[in-house]
Amino acid sequence: GIAEGAPGVTIEFGPHDEKEHVGVKRTGCQGFCEFGPLVRIQKGDHVIQYIKVKEDDCEEIFEKSVVGDEVIERLLYAKEGQSYVQPDEIPFIAKQTRIVLENCGKFDAESLDEYMAAGGFSALEKALFEMTPEQVVEEVDLSGLRGRGGGGFPAGKKWKQVANQKVKERYVVCNGDEGDPGAFMDGSVMEGDPFKLIEGMMIAAYAVGSSDGYIYVRAEYPNSVARLHHAIDVMEEKNLLGEHILGTDFCFHMHINRGAGAFVCGEGSALTASIEGNRGMPRTKPPRTVDKGLWAKPTVLNNVETYANVPKIILEGHEWFRTIGTEGSPGTKTFSLTGSIENTGLIEVPMGTTLREIIYDIGGGLKNGSEFKAVQIGGPSGGCLTEKHLDEPLDFDSVKKFGAIVGSGGLVVMNVDTCMVEVARFFMSFTQRESCGKCTPCREGTKRMLEILEKIVAGKGEMEDLERLEELAEMVKSMSLCGLGKSAPLPVLSTIRMFRDEYVEHIVDKK
Ligand code: SF4
Repeated sequence: GIAEGAPGVTIEFGPHDEKEHVGVKRTGCQGFCEFGPLVRIQKGDHVIQYIKVKEDDCEEIFEKSVVGDEVIERLLYAKEGQSYVQPDEIPFIAKQTRIVLENCGKFDAESLDEYMAAGGFSALEKALFEMTPEQVVEEVDLSGLRGRGGGGFPAGKKWKQVANQKVKERYVVCNGDEGDPGAFMDGSVMEGDPFKLIEGMMIAAYAVGSSDGYIYVRAEYPNSVARLHHAIDVMEEKNLLGEHILGTDFCFHMHINRGAGAFVCGEGSALTASIEGNRGMPRTKPPRTVDKGLWAKPTVLNNVETYANVPKIILEGHEWFRTIGTEGSPGTKTFSLTGSIENTGLIEVPMGTTLREIIYDIGGGLKNGSEFKAVQIGGPSGGCLTEKHLDEPLDFDSVKKFGAIVGSGGLVVMNVDTCMVEVARFFMSFTQRESCGKCTPCREGTKRMLEILEKIVAGKGEMEDLERLEELAEMVKSMSLCGLGKSAPLPVLSTIRMFRDEYVEHIVDKK
């Protein structure tokens, strides 16, 4: 049967003539979520990708494609009269550039041997034996890698600030508290390639002189927690974690912390407070995390995707990394593609890819051929982009110019039938519920904004409600303490800016 809880299954052979060597692997997410459960059969270099596999198909797959050499046509992905056997030829996959997700869905995520056979931990080895910590920091800095968790702050600068601290006790922390509705990129990396994340964190630890790392994982990701624990256990057994790693002076210990489901714990200071066992509430800054983070010590805090980029940068060098993406935002970005789209799934594209390429070439267009209206980018802290942005290259800086943020990379596609006032109400109800209540502008302001939005959606709004809504949005944005409050009004402001007519229609309709 299809293993429960396994986003993907790969059946792999030894050399083609050694059919007795057949293994079944439970892999991480292959990204092609719309067509799951997926089964990938690997016979040497020849791969067959089956989609929408049911338990009843398993016997036939085994007889025909595992024991025999037949391909079952009805289980192949087909589009416009063409069916695809090799997964890498399916347009959804062929048009991506997979660096962070390169192993996801192909490897047994629990096998250290497989990770190492594909070059895993050679970046760590290179860092430890061929580079000084300063050179590692410099390499990451020169690569231009920017934090993938939302703000896009340069990772190398952050590492440098921690490395230059006088205090010797330092921490490396990974934010795996991916809370945006519709976002599941980091969860897929933790589940599908946990060793890569840990390798990236170890390189960061070596670079900044830390001997302890913490991964803060979202409560709703039990598979990620299990895979990370397993990875740590295996690495400790092989002396890849702990004291004197690979016979060097580098010592590193990993710890996993599970969140309790609070969105605000994705904010840096709330996250470190939560790890310390305190209530997860943001605090005023300064001090910044790089000066006083976890246990009030200098801390490198990056998200899962940022660390997962590091091994390849160390191995291939910063020049290679800068050949991908745009000048200001080098590298790739993972996005979760959801909403009214044909190919719901997880994708990775070079920074600077246009929305049109993402939605039409990779996403396969809107569901049932409906007409595009907008896309919500960056989750509840982001904003919407419309038809006029379809051909704009997407990167950290360009998206900001349009009044939105890349955020962690959630993309919710909406068709012409979507009510944008309702979209704003939905995101406001989310952030209002998740407000920790520490500061008044966010605690009270989001409540009042939600009340007004509910009034307008119900057709009971007045024109002055719209003005009050805008006024409140600006106030909450400028006066809130942390990123949650500062960005909570963005979906409202961007929908008012782009779809003011719809707000007015709700108000006028009632009269
Ligand atoms: Fe809490 Fe909102 Fe203030 Fe952030 S902005 S500290 S979430 S009340």
